[in-house]
Amino acid sequence: MLPRRELGRTGLSVSPIGLGTVKFGRATGVRYPTRFSIPDDAAAARLLAIASERGVNLLDTAPAYGESEERLGRILIGQRDRWVLCTKAGEEFDAQSGKSSFDFSAPGITASVERSLHRLGVDALDVVLLHSDGRDEWILRDSEAWEALQRLRERGIIRAAGISTKSPEGAMLAATMCDVVMVTLNLRERADLPAIEAARLAGAGILIKKALASGWLDAVETTGIDPVERSLSFALGTPGVSSVIIGTIDPDHLAHNIDAAARV
Ligand code: NAP
Repeated sequence: MLPRRELGRTGLSVSPIGLGTVKFGRATGVRYPTRFSIPDDAAAARLLAIASERGVNLLDTAPAYGESEERLGRILIGQRDRWVLCTKAGEEFDAQSGKSSFDFSAPGITASVERSLHRLGVDALDVVLLHSDGRDEWILRDSEAWEALQRLRERGIIRAAGISTKSPEGAMLAATMCDVVMVTLNLRERADLPAIEAARLAGAGILIKKALASGWLDAVETTGIDPVERSLSFALGTPGVSSVIIGTIDPDHLAHNIDAAARV
């Protein structure tokens, strides 16, 4: 079984890897190396069962991941208390046009969170992250979104609030403002390392996205060592990292990732 790590000061304990669920609900407008089909509910449920049996307790989803939230809501019936749920707010994806739109207004964020509660079938969400469009600092400082999340947290509808950032400057600002930050870290992309250290010092929970370079592993590996093992060892060995969110719809990849995380 995988051990648990504290998610900063949130009081939540999470497995060192979480399951990312972009591919549970969206197959267009993504930049993965190979084409794929969205798994059906039975296949998605099998992935969650493998993850849970091996000690993974963190699921990452978003309204922008197409059907992902609704699908998780169906699969999680009867097992919601086993999982720490992280979703996002601010981005919507339209499958018809293949384009995203963004709304960081207070009514927009509040409505998105309320819809996530309904879709996921829960009374409260463990973590809600603002889904950045690239304007990280504007979103945190100048939009209504951050205050809207604070109000939802005060109402007990969300337990921890943060942002998934797109720039080192945004990640640095988030490190001292947020309960949780989600940043990019892999063997080739290390620009968020200073923000990770700042978040650690500030007691924020740190979630890593794209630890496997979104599947472009050939690009990160030149040593002949298993690239998954090397990537996870790097991300999980970085001080302050709470959990690495890895997206997969392949049960063998999931088992491989869990084995690699268990060895770190
Ligand atoms: P990632 O986890 O680095 O890579 C996922 C890709 O790697 C998938 O195509 C997957 O394909 C492949 N993969 C997984 N395990 C593998 C293994 N053991 N061997 C070979 N290939 C493997 O990147 P990501 O999906 O871009 O990001 C991870 C998660 O972070 C997402 O699912 C999402 O939850 C979150 N995220 C958030 C944002 C944001 O802006 N907030 C952006 C990106 C990602 P298979 O399905 O074939 O395994």
